[in-house]
Amino acid sequence: MGYNVAIDGPAGAGKSTIAKLLAKEKGYIYVDTGALYRGLAIHFLDKGIRAEDTKAVIEAVKDADVKIKYEDGIQQIYLNGKNITGRLRSEEVGNMASATAKIPEVRAKLLMLQKNLAKEQDVVMDGRDIGTCVLPDADVKIFLTASVRTRAMRRYEELAAKGESCSLETIEKDITERDEQDMTRKTAPLKKAEDAHLVDSSDMTIEEVVKAIADLCKG
Ligand code: C5P
Repeated sequence: MGYNVAIDGPAGAGKSTIAKLLAKEKGYIYVDTGALYRGLAIHFLDKGIRAEDTKAVIEAVKDADVKIKYEDGIQQIYLNGKNITGRLRSEEVGNMASATAKIPEVRAKLLMLQKNLAKEQDVVMDGRDIGTCVLPDADVKIFLTASVRTRAMRRYEELAAKGESCSLETIEKDITERDEQDMTRKTAPLKKAEDAHLVDSSDMTIEEVVKAIADLCKG
């Protein structure tokens, strides 16, 4: 069994930034599970399937082969043999991922893949249900959050840096809807595991958050 750190929290809380730095500092592997849901979302979008068409989504899941690989230490997502990592981060893909992540067949497709990654290796895994469902026995569990405004600003800056046009209001609305969707779904909703440490990063620097979590890791 590897040493497992689970980081859950809402969209834009800084999970991936923190998890990546923590993984580097500790020499663990970083697993971004949102990228897996986004990979499946691309499969549905490419097939022209609407998220509301649950039957079509369940059918399409069957012929999606999502794989995670590490090239030069960086996570790459393959969908049916094709590297789609460059397409993962758009708002369209994020919204489709959130809308379809509530479907049990979608979650079941990715569950074992995530569990197996953590079995043999030391990992920092981030997502929505890592501490509650995927790795309930994780050595350290963190619930990382920040105010909606702070999270929207971070997403806005991330997209703007890539030259993507976007409005802060739209992002704030998307984030609020995404939180609502992720927290109220029946299967594996976003919630703090009872034994998770709550970290509110609204008024903390990245370094402070990484240090706070690193200090909790004994491995
Ligand atoms: O974290 P990220 O924004 O990339 O995740 C996209 C969507 O995938 C989330 O809004 C959530 O609905 C879904 N997701 C999930 N469980 C995870 C990771 C992501 O339901 N472990």
